[in-house]
Amino acid sequence: MKKTILINDGISKVGKKQLIDLQFNVIDKHIEQSALIDFINENNVTGVLVRSATQIRKDIIDNCPSIKLIGRGGVGMDNIDVEYAQKKNIHVINTPSASSASVAELVFSHLFSMARDTYHSNRTMPLEGDMNFKKLKKQYSKGTELRGKKIGIIGFGKIGQEVAKIALGIGMEVLFYDPTIQKQIINVDFYNNQTIKFKLEKSDFSILLQNCDAITIHIPKQKKAVITKTELKKMKKGSFIINTSRGGIINEADLISQLQNGHIRSAALDVYENEPTPKLEILMNEQISLSPHIGAATLEAQDRIGIELAEQINTLLNG
Ligand code: NAD
Repeated sequence: MKKTILINDGISKVGKKQLIDLQFNVIDKHIEQSALIDFINENNVTGVLVRSATQIRKDIIDNCPSIKLIGRGGVGMDNIDVEYAQKKNIHVINTPSASSASVAELVFSHLFSMARDTYHSNRTMPLEGDMNFKKLKKQYSKGTELRGKKIGIIGFGKIGQEVAKIALGIGMEVLFYDPTIQKQIINVDFYNNQTIKFKLEKSDFSILLQNCDAITIHIPKQKKAVITKTELKKMKKGSFIINTSRGGIINEADLISQLQNGHIRSAALDVYENEPTPKLEILMNEQISLSPHIGAATLEAQDRIGIELAEQINTLLNG
């Protein structure tokens, strides 16, 4: 008999097709949290796939004996009682590397935009582009190039290393700091199957702060901010900082003050201390390039997530 997989928070078309091709009975439908236990039992569901919207807690695990697998499309599993499920011999899977390249590209989307002030001219051109074209041309004519500049990567895991590949590809020098990695080989792959290997060595944290033209952060959630007034002041005058990791890793009040006094030229944030209601001082700050926590959210990443989930489910449930 076909095993049933409930896709409760959506999946890409290719992921769904792959599950169907692998002979699973797929229910692609959002069931409200309060109705989940009954639905799972009535449909004898073997695997439940969620993103961040659905909670899979002890109540579901205890009351739905048919569940053999819980899958999270994406990384964080705060919405699943992982240890409890594993103790009950339920497989719990996620897709930790499927979106690393997407986050890395968002870093460069912000960085190129800050280097030429396009994030800012996109705010002013609609308002005064026809009246004050020459004034704006002058205002935005002090951009910089990224080639030949230094980028500092704090946290050199999956995303940090994807950032390094793009940086090396466009001619930047890469410094990294990560307490667990001393040396790392980075393979930069080109479209024609050529690969260039770079051997990188960990930098001292202060040296990285002091010498880089741009700093980007790729570390897990921390108990307290890693970038505060002290670290921002150590950074090179006129440099850029980007946070696409987790809100609270940069102290936002300290960031605003270092932007105001001109020490930091501009910042880019995809994540915020107060999510999903970032502070107005951050949203209205003209020196911050903003995005609403979309680092992982590309169509390609959704496809990779779907395919990776389908492959893992096939291995675990079909052997
Ligand atoms: P990873 O586990 O592969 O790498 C994290 C690295 O950070 C590890 O090598 C670790 O040693 C290092 N690290 C931990 N604490 C550190 C510190 N204080 N200083 C320097 N390095 C430190 O994780 P990843 O896949 O590269 O993801 C990094 C983070 O990006 C995730 O934890 C997540 O919070 C965030 N993320 C954001 C989005 C988004 O949509 N913006 C999407 C995916 C992931």
